[in-house]
Amino acid sequence: MRLKLDERPFATVPPAVSPDGAYQPVSFWQETIDVAPGAPLQEHLQCDVCVIGGGYSGLSVARELKQRKPDLDIVVLERGVCGHGASGRNGGFSMPLIGWDLYETAKSLGDEKAKRTYELMYDAVDYFKRLIADNAIACDLESTGYLFINTCEAREKHSRHELAKAQQLGFDHRWLDRAELQDYIRSDRYRSAIFDPHPCIVNPAKLARGLKDAAERQGIRIYEQTSVTGLTDGDPVSITTEHGSVKARQVALCLNGFGASLGFFKHAVLPIHTYIVLTEPLTDAQLEAIGWAKHRASLETARNFIHYFRLTADNRIAFGGEDADLYPGGVYRNLDETIAAALRQRFREHFPSLADVRFTHAWGGTLGVSLDMFPVFGQGGDHGSIFHACAYAGHGVSLSNYCGTILAPMMLRAAGHTDVPEPAQLPFFWNKKPLPMPPDPFRYWGLRVYRQALKAQDWWQGA
Ligand SMILES: Cc1cc2nc3c(=O)[nH]c(=O)nc-3n(C[C@H](O)[C@H](O)[C@H](O)COP(=O)(O)OP(=O)(O)OC[C@H]3O[C@@H](n4cnc5c(N)ncnc54)[C@H](O)[C@@H]3O)c2cc1C
Repeated sequence: MRLKLDERPFATVPPAVSPDGAYQPVSFWQETIDVAPGAPLQEHLQCDVCVIGGGYSGLSVARELKQRKPDLDIVVLERGVCGHGASGRNGGFSMPLIGWDLYETAKSLGDEKAKRTYELMYDAVDYFKRLIADNAIACDLESTGYLFINTCEAREKHSRHELAKAQQLGFDHRWLDRAELQDYIRSDRYRSAIFDPHPCIVNPAKLARGLKDAAERQGIRIYEQTSVTGLTDGDPVSITTEHGSVKARQVALCLNGFGASLGFFKHAVLPIHTYIVLTEPLTDAQLEAIGWAKHRASLETARNFIHYFRLTADNRIAFGGEDADLYPGGVYRNLDETIAAALRQRFREHFPSLADVRFTHAWGGTLGVSLDMFPVFGQGGDHGSIFHACAYAGHGVSLSNYCGTILAPMMLRAAGHTDVPEPAQLPFFWNKKPLPMPPDPFRYWGLRVYRQALKAQDWWQGA
């Protein structure tokens, strides 16, 4: 296997580090951290494991490997700085969602498999909270719980199926009718909701940098400003970068939405973009006006193109979703002004009483999505030495931080460390072949038609 970086998709994205060496934040979260970009790789290295991508997935795999085998020599290669991708830009919701939802997952996999899969995801949410506590990472963690809000009759009907399935399979979701929901948040558009008490929120960039520091304390070597330009399978695997190279016995590809730019799962994992707009800090009176002062629950609306929103530590509202897009040629973007404007407009419809609130930030990023909305994890390469974890769709915060607990033992066992136990539960998507998509331009145009159909359904249902 030979993979080669296609630099064209990055042509429209300013680099993470300016020529004078200063970090260039994209999201509000990234503005809240001090980043001294790490030095690039400028030599030819050999190591046991090379992790490509310094987001949550890459840091999780590196840290879980090192925790089990402290003598391993592990190198992480990151194109910008750790947490410059989706891991430093997301909404910061750690939640158990996987696939479309639990009801649809049970329909496609059966009750037993769906239950096991969601148990794994709840375990990932618990692990996420422990990870932050154990490493004492100051990232504004708030255990807020999560509301799935219905804004129309059709979605309310579906949510009742979702709740019944959750309760049947033993999960502690709760229904809130319109009156009960008013105690959490008030908008004329909100009819009812499902409340899940387990999810939490963080400042995602603070978390990413905290994890990078934790990894370095463990003795993991991290090279930032180091773009991988090619990979050749073999024993060892050869990785080339702009100014150096690495030979590694094993590789973990942790690129999520950027995988396609290296030719990895090009026809199975789509680099989809989602965007967030952010308000100025709200006053207590403004928060009270929309009923968000008492419980600080995080929220999502039930529709194909969801809205996800939450409060920040300084009481701004981060409001994301509304649309998601893929750009021709797999191009990457930091912002799509048309989608940001639609988000601001939608925010005013949800909360007319906040018509005067100013927006201070807008940004977006790339995530990986497979056709069936399930993650893509597994082992590959001619020698079984190239591992991967990606395609978390819009809810990868929990699972990408947890993925090392699955990949690390599988990698160590493959490398001959038979004393390392297998993961307690291998998810059903381990080594599952993702559904293929046709090449561009058919893929691009096919997806545009599908996106329009989903948007039309949201509009028709009034969601
Ligand atoms: C705007 C937005 C909002 C989101 N909101 C949520 C949310 O609230 N909850 C949730 O659960 N999920 C959310 N997600 C998804 C979540 O952020 C991701 O699933 C998760 O961060 C994936 O982490 P990762 O490490 O796999 O990928 P990334 O964080 O994207 O990391 C991949 C890394 O690879 C690096 N890279 C790329 N090319 C190369 C190369 N050639 N060489 C070396 N390195 C390279 C990139 O710079 C990047 O740092 C959101 C995503 C976005 C974009």
